[in-house]
Amino acid sequence: MIGVSLLGATGSVGASTLDIIDRHPDRYRVVGITANDNVAHMVRLVERFRPLLAAMASETAARELRRELATRGCKVEVTSGVAGLCDVARLSEAQVVLAAIVGSAGLAPTLAAVDAAKRVLLANKESLVMAGDLFMDRVRRSGAALLPVDSEQNAMMQCLGQYRVGDDVSASGVERIWLTASGGPFLRTPVAALRDKTPAQACAHPNWSMGPKISVDSATMMNKGLEVIETARLFQLDAGRIEVVIHPQSVVHSLVEFVDGSLLAQLGSADMRVPLAWGLAWPERIASGARRLSLFDLGIAEFEPPDESRFPCLGLARKAERVAGTAPAILNAANEVAVQAFLDGIIPFTAIAQVVEQALDVVPHHPATELEQIYADDSAARATAWGWLNAVGWRESNA
Ligand code: NAD
Ligand code: MG
Repeated sequence: MIGVSLLGATGSVGASTLDIIDRHPDRYRVVGITANDNVAHMVRLVERFRPLLAAMASETAARELRRELATRGCKVEVTSGVAGLCDVARLSEAQVVLAAIVGSAGLAPTLAAVDAAKRVLLANKESLVMAGDLFMDRVRRSGAALLPVDSEQNAMMQCLGQYRVGDDVSASGVERIWLTASGGPFLRTPVAALRDKTPAQACAHPNWSMGPKISVDSATMMNKGLEVIETARLFQLDAGRIEVVIHPQSVVHSLVEFVDGSLLAQLGSADMRVPLAWGLAWPERIASGARRLSLFDLGIAEFEPPDESRFPCLGLARKAERVAGTAPAILNAANEVAVQAFLDGIIPFTAIAQVVEQALDVVPHHPATELEQIYADDSAARATAWGWLNAVGWRESNA
């Protein structure tokens, strides 16, 4: 039996992973789960999977969970806070840790799993964007097996065969990576109409069903910008060799181009259970439950270059990647604030990129060799962005 801890068990990626585990009860055992504040969902998961340890982000939520479990006669240890989340990541009974907390809150627990030399299934791209080289140094030092399950980076890994994250990808003869993007719900929307798009419209992704933050990131294409940084850091590849390509059908999940001119691609239906099953079973294969892709039904697969004037976040992410140091952490933090403000109805859709651009311009960046500096600049970017949004109200003339 393989013990699995799920960081972000109540989310969209958490649910897909639990669905696969449910299909293989002889193979996997859920030993740890975490959530932000959804106590009712955690009660259901504890009753269903009987983990050894559960953690909530706040002590208030943990207390409520303990109370609910006690009335049901469930004896499961419940911890809280960052330390509690990290305990679940380090649990000695867990060989595999799913890193699927959304945003910067995932960094500390994901690093705890890396330091404990777990097999880490990385969905939480924000942690790698924030901590970049420091994160990868920890992977090398601990000997953790880092397996990207973000569908595109997972596709790249599958195309790379025996490659192990942390090694030099150029030694595998890689010349370029084609990072595919669906283009999200606003790919063909007239640019002038983007400003008034609502959170519900932004979250209605044409191909994927995901949590709200990554759905908005897909609509702005900041998701692809974050993935450019994620790919560059994962594979230690110059970002100039990462080509973003719009592929609206989302069946080719990315391609690797080799020096001899070969292009390898991974295809499959748009279902996170495919990369997640790959990560759970690695280096073997197991059934995922995903619908099979029939080439006969596929029809035409289109590929086109992205229009950066429609999707300014893509260029902003590339700029942060070039600047390096804590600039990607500043970009990520400002984006998290702006996306939340958009979801809360405080700013229009098009202001997300404006907030990020201004934060990148005014918040000083530093070398990212210490975690403390990364967190300090993350906080500075959040404070600056919230300052614009709260104090004076966001005025687009600011941009
Ligand atoms: P989601 O919003 O559905 O779930 C997020 C999870 O994180 C929940 O379990 C929530 O309780 C937890 N969480 C939120 N804030 C927290 C906090 N402050 N402290 C502790 N826990 C907290 O998100 P999702 O769509 O499952 O995405 C999770 C991660 O995976 C993101 O980083 C996303 O970019 C990445 N990812 C998601 C998909 C997808 O298909 N959903 C695909 C690729 C990558
Ligand atoms: Mg992705």
